Parts: sequence; C-alpha cells; structure tokens
Amino acid sequence: MKPIHVIGGGLAGSEASWQAAEAGVPVVLHEMRPVRETHAHQTGSFAELVCSNSFRSDDAETNAVGLLHEEMRRAGSVIMEAADAHKLPAGGALAVDRERFAAAVTERLEAHPNIEIVREEIEGLPPADWDNVIVATGPLTAEKLANAIGELTGEAELAFFDAIAPIIHRESIDMDICWMQSRYDKPGPGGSGADYINCPMDKEQYERFIDALIEGEKTQFKEWEANTPYFEGCLPIEVMAERGRETLRHGPMKPVGLTNAHKPDEKAHAIVQLRQDNALGTLWNMVGFQTKLKYGAQTEIFRLIPGLEKAEFARLGGLHRNTFLNSPRLLDGQLRLKAEPRLRFAGQITGVEGYVESAAIGLVTGRFASAERLGSTGFPPPPTTALGALVAHITGGHLTSDDNRFQPMNINFGLLPPLTEPVEKVKGKKAKTQARRKAMTARALRDVDAWLEGAPAVAAE
Ligand code: FAD
Repeated sequence: MKPIHVIGGGLAGSEASWQAAEAGVPVVLHEMRPVRETHAHQTGSFAELVCSNSFRSDDAETNAVGLLHEEMRRAGSVIMEAADAHKLPAGGALAVDRERFAAAVTERLEAHPNIEIVREEIEGLPPADWDNVIVATGPLTAEKLANAIGELTGEAELAFFDAIAPIIHRESIDMDICWMQSRYDKPGPGGSGADYINCPMDKEQYERFIDALIEGEKTQFKEWEANTPYFEGCLPIEVMAERGRETLRHGPMKPVGLTNAHKPDEKAHAIVQLRQDNALGTLWNMVGFQTKLKYGAQTEIFRLIPGLEKAEFARLGGLHRNTFLNSPRLLDGQLRLKAEPRLRFAGQITGVEGYVESAAIGLVTGRFASAERLGSTGFPPPPTTALGALVAHITGGHLTSDDNRFQPMNINFGLLPPLTEPVEKVKGKKAKTQARRKAMTARALRDVDAWLEGAPAVAAE
C-alpha cells in the first residue's frame, strides 16, 4: 500500500500519523527539527509544547475543551494518552510534564511498525507522486513551503499574522442598552440592515475607556514577531488610542449612521460595534478591536463598554505570528485543499487555535486520509460533538464575507448547535448555564460514540 505523507510532527502531525497508522495505513512522517529549527521550538521531539504546559480544563461535563479531551480519548488519541500518563497537579486543568509528554509521543511514533520517520524540511509543494499528503506544519510553517502554499491558494488566502478581536457570547450582551442596526441601515449580503449589535458611549464613558486602554497592561511582541510587516495595517486598539484620543472615534468607534433605538434623541459620542461571528448567531466579534492587551486587562476594560458589563468572552484578542489558511473558502468537508485535493491540512494552519484543538484536527484528518487510502470515505464527526464543531467551523460554519475575515478559534460551546432536547429545570443563571452545558456534553459524547462505531454523521439540528 502506498504511504500517506505527513509533513510536520507537532501536535497535529503526530496525532494524524498515529491515527492513520493505527488504521493500518503506512505513514511517512517528515519533520524538519532538529535539522532546521523554528523560532519557538527548542528540541527535536515530536509534539513539543512551545509555551504553556497546560491543556486547559479537563472537565468533560461543563467545559468545551474538557469535552474535546474526552472525545479524543475515546478516539484513541496518542496525544491524550501521553498527556494523561504525564499529568501534573493543576486543579481542574490538565497540565503535563512537557519533556516526558513529548518523549512519550516520540517513543510511541518511533515504535509504531506503520510509521517511518524522516528528519527533513519539505521545501515547497510535495513531489507529484505523493498522492495523499497531510500538511501539519503549524503556525510557524517554514518559509519555502508557506510561500508555495501561498502561490497555490492565492496570497490573500494565507495569513502570516492573526489579528484577533475578542468574541463574545451573544447571551451575555445586554440588549436593553445595545441595539441592532447596520451603519446607515445598509443591508449586507443576505443581511437585513440591522446586522450589527451597537454599544453606545457618552463622552465621559469614552474618555474613561481611552484612559483604561492607554494604561492597560500589554504583552510585548517577540523580536521575530515585531519584524513581521502586517503590523502597521492592523493596529491594536490601544496603539490607536495612544496615537490620539480621538483616533478611535474616527475609526472603529465612529458614531455616525447609527441611532440608539432605546434613546433616539441622544447622540452617542462613540459606538462599539459587534458583528456576527458564526452561522448559529451565538458568537459576536468586536469590530476592529484587535489588541495586545493582557487577557486580564481585556476583560476588565471591555466590560466598561455599556451593554458589555457582563460580557462572557468566547475568545480574547491578540496579535501573533501565525500562518493559517482561509479554510472555509479553501478546504472541502474532508479537509482537502479544493485546488489540489491530494493535500489535506491539519492543526493550527487550518485556523484552529491551541494545542488540543490542533491535535484534534490532526486526529480527524488522519482518519479521513486513512479512510481514503483504504478506499472508503471518512464521515466527519457530527457537528454536535466538539470534534465536529471544530471541523464545521473551519470548513464553512464561519461567516466568510470579505469584511468578516476568518480568524483562529479555540473550541467553545458557541460552536455547537443549540440543544433541541429538554434541559433539567434549575433555578439561577449559573445553574441554568451548567445544566445546559451538561446536556450539550452528554449529547456530544453520545454522538461521538456513534461516530466512532461507524454511524454516519447526523446533520446539524
Ligand atoms: P506545531 O506544533 O508547531 O507543529 C508543526 C511542526 O511542523 C513543527 O514541528 C515544525 O518543526 C514542523 N515544520 C514546519 N515547517 C516544516 C517543513 N516545511 N517541513 C517539515 N517540517 C516542518 N497553544 C496553546 O494551547 N497554548 C500555548 O501556550 C501556546 N503557545 C504558543 C506560543 C507560540 C510562540 C506559538 C507560535 C503558538 C502557541 N500556541 C499555543 C498555539 C498552537 O496551539 C501551537 O503552536 C501548536 O503547537 C500548534 O500545533 P500544530 O501541530 O499545528 O503545529
């Protein structure tokens, strides 16, 4: 049987290789380290954790990433096996001994009879006779390969930086203060003229907000990040605020073309807009609010915005060096590049964010690629599962109009379809949220088991 070629032995490539090899398919895994280094990795081990040693919450009942852990365990994940074997005390989080964790993954891959390891950089598109390839080269994909992918996809479809604006759960926005309206009531494609959520500020609130932005604690760019040219075109809001107190009022917070539905006679001094971020309408992003503020400062400062006092953030903002595809446009449901279907993508390069999410997409891609090699079609995991919700997000669940550019995302409950089954009746907002989450995780685990047993994926409800 011809092998599958996996390029990149990080979180995604390791998991993809493992899944394909376990399905009985030969795999050649190409990893450039230690022959060639990245700016962040320090060893030659597979699945090296480049920064924190945490896989975040391990609570599979009420936390979305905890749910993803459990789904991956049930799917025989080598990353979860090694994480569980080398976990450290960290309360409800799954933190690991990074060296032992990476050594365990490396050992498992090296010992697998179906896996051959080649330490080399792939310097451009893979040779034409590699007919089933998984590209899992991550946020720091080596330049020659990144350029070749950029040529194939069109440069505009491959980003080298993520400029992430915070994303908020819709249910936590106070609509007694905010209102829906597009600027000048202009309908967007398929929109109604009331596509945005607007948060009004008076002069005093605006001035206090600007002070907070200027004073807020920021994270610094690493030297190699600061040299990336994208930065000027995509300024963090705190940098705009530092350039002049009125800059934001003439930029992303301009108050023109909008009338406060609750107080039509009052003219707002500035307005923050939120745009729908997923097809389900459960997540909304803060328009133009990419930021390098530290996470704690972001939550504190953005909750000063009227209507967002109780905002729950699905994702906080950031700016990082990050190579990733505009996947909803470029990839099909099997994570193949539409323009060249012999190439599948996995990991952070597909526009998921985080160690666990990257490994999760590696898991699904490895299964798709091995199913294809064995002459069948891999069913995608149901969208009601955390695995399926991530796949749906990167292959089309996201809105991809030109002004709503696809940006990387962690797993969160907002990506899963709302429940149709009844939820346990409880009192209090927190208890209700927990009950809803428990029902969602129970549904997900039931559906992931059915998927693993080979049942076709159920359609989104
Ligand atoms: P990687 O794990 O980076 O694996 C890609 C592999 O491909 C690497 O081993 C690389 O050497 C190899 N490679 C690249 N190009 C080639 C080529 N042409 N030929 C052969 N091999 C190649 N996520 C978190 O959850 N927590 C964090 O704390 C965190 N910190 C981060 C810090 C930094 C500086 C960066 C850049 C990212 C961070 N991330 C973090 C995000 C992300 O989850 C990780 O980068 C994760 O490792 C991504 O998994 P991956 O498999 O897609 O890529």
